[in-house]
Amino acid sequence: MSDPRPDPMPGPMPEPLVPGPRTAELLDRYAASLLGVFGVPQLVLDHGEGPWVWDVDGNRYLDLVGGIAVNALGHAHPVLVSAVAEQAAAMVHISNFYTSAAQVGLAERILAAAGAPEGSAVFFANSGTEAVEAAVKLARRTGRTDIVAAEGGFHGRSTGALALTHKPAYRDPFAPLLPGVRHVPYDDVDALAAAVTQATSAVVLEPIQGEAGVIVPDPAYLTAAREITARAGALLILDEVQTGVGRTGTWFAFQQAGILPDAVTLAKGLGGGVPVGALVTMGPRVSHLLAPGQHGSTFGGNPLAAAAGIAVLDTIERDGLLAHATAMGEHLVARIDALGHPVVAGVRGAGLLRAIVLTADVAPAVAVAARSAGFLVNAVTPSALRLAPPLVVTADQLDSFVEVLPGLLDSATSQEGTR
Ligand SMILES: *Cc1c(COP(=O)(O)O)cnc(C)c1O
Repeated sequence: MSDPRPDPMPGPMPEPLVPGPRTAELLDRYAASLLGVFGVPQLVLDHGEGPWVWDVDGNRYLDLVGGIAVNALGHAHPVLVSAVAEQAAAMVHISNFYTSAAQVGLAERILAAAGAPEGSAVFFANSGTEAVEAAVKLARRTGRTDIVAAEGGFHGRSTGALALTHKPAYRDPFAPLLPGVRHVPYDDVDALAAAVTQATSAVVLEPIQGEAGVIVPDPAYLTAAREITARAGALLILDEVQTGVGRTGTWFAFQQAGILPDAVTLAKGLGGGVPVGALVTMGPRVSHLLAPGQHGSTFGGNPLAAAAGIAVLDTIERDGLLAHATAMGEHLVARIDALGHPVVAGVRGAGLLRAIVLTADVAPAVAVAARSAGFLVNAVTPSALRLAPPLVVTADQLDSFVEVLPGLLDSATSQEGTR
């Protein structure tokens, strides 16, 4: 099958894109064959290139979701494609009875990017959830059982990680969960200080809360969390599954806070779309908490995943994508602020993890309108649109979205008014 690839950028108000017969057929088959936990998929995608994706009917979209902060290099990046192809041709998987140059190389690069002290170490998993599970077991090895997490926090959906995730709709159907977890209001130093005791094994926080709507705490919050945990002898574990690997303009968000956590969880952007997660333990004391045999994974850090991770980190470094993410994030904020649109309350976030905050609960309607205008964005909350585009996105591409945004907001709010 040949793919029509329309070339020019979409204009300010393009013809609405309408998924066609291939989409309809595949969605029918999806409904008859996939577990319904994700609801009805918004699109049936076929391929991508850079920040663009095409659906199976040939419609092109600018992907400002980026696989939810995963596709750091965009789609079909030649460096990632050849790294994966070459590694697949050499060997895909070997089990953790053995290691590979790719696995060792990725661990070293992660530690270097994190500025991790001597004696730090990496455990490879296959997802963010699994990285968090490893962190929970790490915390247990302190000999204490209590964990303090934050309201609004998202840490994954396996039953251990779910105990740290705060959202009642995700938790309640599966109660009782892991005991000893307490949630405190995010960005509230006093609440954190009051909750952390000598029984606290770890405080687990996102440096910016992603799923809660890209909530950025006061810069002093993470510093205070570092001090509070150090004083109580508890670990500070930062969940950088969403914020890590350049997403916020530095390798890791904790670097902007000027602190060193005891452990960091990574996943999403790390493999550029190839599943790989990691727990990074800082320094020998923390790195020795999990002894041989106390944790493991069949697939974790296999050569294929590790080669993808190396390709991502190398490309971010070689192409200056940290500075680019910072610049593009600031550009986006300036352009949206300049609109002065009454429905836009502001833009939150850092680097290329952003939320356009709306004055009304129209984010889902705006996301639908955006899609038919050829732009993928995510209604992360009823009143916030999340943008987590590939780090390679250009100013012109972001501008093309900002140009249509007022029209999208107007159409969504007028629908709201007529309801
Ligand atoms: C997405 C996410 C997770 C879960 O990662 P999965 O790869 O979906 O298991 C955990 N923590 C944070 C902060 C996330 O954004």
